[in-house]
Amino acid sequence: MSFSYPILPTGHLLAIEGLESPHIAALLDLAESYALLNRQGKTQRDLLRGRTLINLFFEDSTRTRTSFEIAGKRLGADVINMSVSNSSVNKGETLLDTASTLNAMNTDLLVVRHAQSGAPALLAQKVTAAVINAGDGTHEHPTQALLDALTIRRHKGDLRNLIVAICGDITHSRVARSNIHLLGAMGAEVRLIAPPTLLPAEVGRLGVTVFHDMRKGLAGADVVMMLRLQRERMSGGMVPSAREFFRFYGLDMEKLSFAKPDSIVMHPGPMNRGIEIDSAVADHPTRSVIGEQVEMGVALRMAVLDVLARSLRRHA
Ligand code: ASP
Repeated sequence: MSFSYPILPTGHLLAIEGLESPHIAALLDLAESYALLNRQGKTQRDLLRGRTLINLFFEDSTRTRTSFEIAGKRLGADVINMSVSNSSVNKGETLLDTASTLNAMNTDLLVVRHAQSGAPALLAQKVTAAVINAGDGTHEHPTQALLDALTIRRHKGDLRNLIVAICGDITHSRVARSNIHLLGAMGAEVRLIAPPTLLPAEVGRLGVTVFHDMRKGLAGADVVMMLRLQRERMSGGMVPSAREFFRFYGLDMEKLSFAKPDSIVMHPGPMNRGIEIDSAVADHPTRSVIGEQVEMGVALRMAVLDVLARSLRRHA
């Protein structure tokens, strides 16, 4: 295959902000080749042989943790899931002490999810491993945006000039932030659709168009990306009842009819059916690509692990 081998300039993947379109495109090309291998049932068991990958999750996860685990194992790494509820972190160990422990264990690749924005970046300064941010607070979730872009590209060919509507709880969404940076870098037009209470203060600086009316915001969209209402991060009444929210901002087939007839519907999961998305849309056989997002998540994470492990070798 003819593509330039992707490089992640910092040797870590902490955020999409700061990555340029050639880096992103090369990473997506490599992920695409892993997606094809995965579909053919082929693996590359020796690429990460002898490497240790630790999944360090301070917050719940189903898809992301499992998908990094599968990706690491398919490439031959030794994968360890550090469950925080069983670890000494709960006994008061600081993040920096955890970093020293991980260094002593010669960890090569560290996948971190943390409730505090910036925690993976702090760890990256202290550990010898390559660090991948698997979601930090409301900051970024870079592999989610990359797997979303891979999924979109498979359906729409190119991201440039596509209209992508991101809808729902933008304020608390690290997925939205990573996607806004990625889609902007790749030349897509981003619309945010949300009630004023669920839009971040800095929205004016993000290079996006804001809509409060879902039908207007969806008009002509190529991609509709729904977000979960993150009640665990909300203080007080930022939204009315779930029923009211669904009426104005929940995606059903009637509201979807305002988007392009061949538009695709995405959701990073976990979904709140009947709150931000109706089951008829979530399970739609042609419009919903939510299952494919999960499939692309494995391929994309294989590409990220591959690239970071190669740069480890260079620095070794
Ligand atoms: N799974 C995504 C995240 O960790 C989205 C969500 O939780 O709603 O950010």
